[in-house]
Amino acid sequence: MAQEKHETGNSTDFIRSIIKEDIRTGRYGGKVITRFPPEPNGYLHIGHAKSIVLNFGIAEEFGGRCHLRFDDTNPLKESMEYVQSIQEDVRWLGYDWGEHLYFASDYFEKLYEFAVDLVKKGKAYVDDLTPEEIRQYRGTLTEPGKESPYRNRSVEENLDLLERMRKGEFPEGSKVLRAKIDMAHPNMNMRDPVMYRIIKAPHYRRGNEWCIFPTYDWAHGQSDSIEGITHSICTLEFEDHRPLYDWFLDQLGIHHPQQIEFARLELTYTVLSKRKLLELVNGGHVDGWDDPRMPTISGMRRRGYTPEAIRDFCNRIGVAKANSVVDVALLEHCVRDHLNKVAPRRMVVLNPLKVVIINYPDEQVEEMEAINNPEDESMGKRKVPFSKVVYIERDDFREDPPKKFFRLAPGREVRLRYAYYITCVDVIKDENGEIVELHCTYDPESRGGWSPDGRKVRGTLHWVSAKHAVPIEVRLYDRLFSVPYPEADKEGRDFKDFLNPDSLKVITAYAEPGLAEAQPGERFQFERQGYFCVDTRDSKPGKPVFNRTITLKDTWAKIEKAQGK
Ligand code: ATP
Ligand code: MG
Repeated sequence: MAQEKHETGNSTDFIRSIIKEDIRTGRYGGKVITRFPPEPNGYLHIGHAKSIVLNFGIAEEFGGRCHLRFDDTNPLKESMEYVQSIQEDVRWLGYDWGEHLYFASDYFEKLYEFAVDLVKKGKAYVDDLTPEEIRQYRGTLTEPGKESPYRNRSVEENLDLLERMRKGEFPEGSKVLRAKIDMAHPNMNMRDPVMYRIIKAPHYRRGNEWCIFPTYDWAHGQSDSIEGITHSICTLEFEDHRPLYDWFLDQLGIHHPQQIEFARLELTYTVLSKRKLLELVNGGHVDGWDDPRMPTISGMRRRGYTPEAIRDFCNRIGVAKANSVVDVALLEHCVRDHLNKVAPRRMVVLNPLKVVIINYPDEQVEEMEAINNPEDESMGKRKVPFSKVVYIERDDFREDPPKKFFRLAPGREVRLRYAYYITCVDVIKDENGEIVELHCTYDPESRGGWSPDGRKVRGTLHWVSAKHAVPIEVRLYDRLFSVPYPEADKEGRDFKDFLNPDSLKVITAYAEPGLAEAQPGERFQFERQGYFCVDTRDSKPGKPVFNRTITLKDTWAKIEKAQGK
């Protein structure tokens, strides 16, 4: 598959500057090889998208390539389901790793050889301290650590013990392999970090072939090196690990990628830790990883977000060296911005109020011409049936209209979009005083919604013909959390305490008839309501279920306006 060309990010960010300089000086022979290295222990989220757009984007921009590598070194949490979902999500975002799909678990043999090499060089040793003792011996940020009594074993003894660890002769937790660096090092990561631990659990790809597993710190840099990665781009929390990664590569004397750290994405009203997302899934707070309220790529896809919008968002936020929280309104703005261009308009009444047009012929039906997208004429027109009884939005009528309410009210004339001017002449109520229908007259001269004589109306309403409308299930999604910082509670409350109880409301709405044929994944703008997407999981032929992607209210545009942008 040919890689499509993407819009690119800010070509002056600090990572691109470093890479340009490396190309200029001929470092790595002018090559640029990046990688996206997820651990298959959960679904990808919007934070991963930032890393994907960055790594694949840079490779594309500089004529290099980007690998997809699964950092699958922990048998306890990883699975094929995650491997598959991650590949699907990266592809959906528009990126292609070609033949460069790799697994750290394929490097177990090589990593073991590297470890033997370090042992032979006197740079690694087998330690019998318990995990708890290792923690105690590590010291603190202000105090040096203490050397293990096993630290000075001979090379021969270490080689023998390591081999027997690999063969499974020792119980879990009884021994580890550690790098021999410096227990008094000011950087805690350099205090003889653990390289291998014994875990007697089957690995989802390697089965029971291995019972010692490399730590992330031991596996990551060497995996990059094996693949010939030139620029190993990762998030800030690995900055303090860089000296360790450098140390390993230097001791081994193998290809040495340049690690560059950037700030991870954080978003308001959103939780982006796989552990917490897993907690929401397992606790039944959401309906799976791809619940449309989840910040996962699969959730956003199901919700109706587009890859273009997500890439646009990632490019707009750019990369920086300092952590900051991005306003989720910006992401939502990008989604609206793209859907506005590509989503055809349809008329759907979410909360119907019956309107009888008393001077309209009883049995008459007219096909009114409606524009599919005023932003894009090429999207054409469609016919929408009009008849004597229509539904309008209950909110579009007020018996006692406040100032600035320009929609329908007793005695007032408004436009039914693409149809006619109508005037409310009567309000019909039931015995409880509840409005059950409106009686209106129409002006036959205003066909198409055009003014017959230059007279203006302030309100334009969407509508559906009652006898033609199709009832559809609509899921009104809202933000999953009701506070901007669900993870930062001063009183120590759990993030789940801030779940928005109104994040999902299911209703039956009335749609223009064509929508009965809408296909899973199709996206629409319901006029004056928002963007909606046909659910890919629960829709049936002729019975589409619609997920609300986002309303039309753009809070980000308001913020920009207030800032004078
Ligand atoms: P989490 O903290 O959600 O569990 P992780 O970092 O453990 O995520 P990995 O599978 O290790 O998840 O991530 C793969 C890549 O995605 C890493 O290179 C990591 O730096 C990047 N990444 C993960 N979360 C973010 C984020 N919020 N913003 C930017 N990049 C991220
Ligand atoms: Mg991780």
